[in-house]
Amino acid sequence: MERTFAIIKPDAVERNVTGKVIEMIEAGGFKIVGMKKIRLSKCQAEGFYYVHKERPFFGDLCAFMSRGPVIALVLEKENAIADWRTLMGATNPANATEGTIRKVLGVSIEENTVHGSDAPETAAFEIPYFFNQLELV
Ligand code: ADP
Ligand code: MG
Repeated sequence: MERTFAIIKPDAVERNVTGKVIEMIEAGGFKIVGMKKIRLSKCQAEGFYYVHKERPFFGDLCAFMSRGPVIALVLEKENAIADWRTLMGATNPANATEGTIRKVLGVSIEENTVHGSDAPETAAFEIPYFFNQLELV
């Protein structure tokens, strides 16, 4: 079993489609072992995305991710990290495969509805950024 970290981003919370995303997560065979609704400060968003700090979109991304509440999740299944990336779809919804979350619900390359860890080391940083052990069941 493997765990990965996911976020349902502010664009999805604003449009009332968090239930649709959760339905796709469960239909995809993932167990939700942690889930909470929170609002990131700009500073907390910058800490989460620090690997992107030199990218031109960093400022806009952190403003977007802190403009309203998000749902943070820890998902568990075999091969969870790669399988969640597959279910999410490509970063740009326009390039995402049919049936993926970003294809179905994404708005733009920035407002692309969901986040997912891209490697075991990333998940190992991202899960404890949001959850403590007692919150993972
Ligand atoms: P992913 O979320 O698919 O792993 P990245 O890690 O490259 O993609 O980027 C993190 C997030 O930054 C993306 O999900 C998206 O919200 C935003 N982003 C990525 N590329 C761009 C871009 N060219 N312009 C605006 N926002 C972007
Ligand atoms: Mg990424």
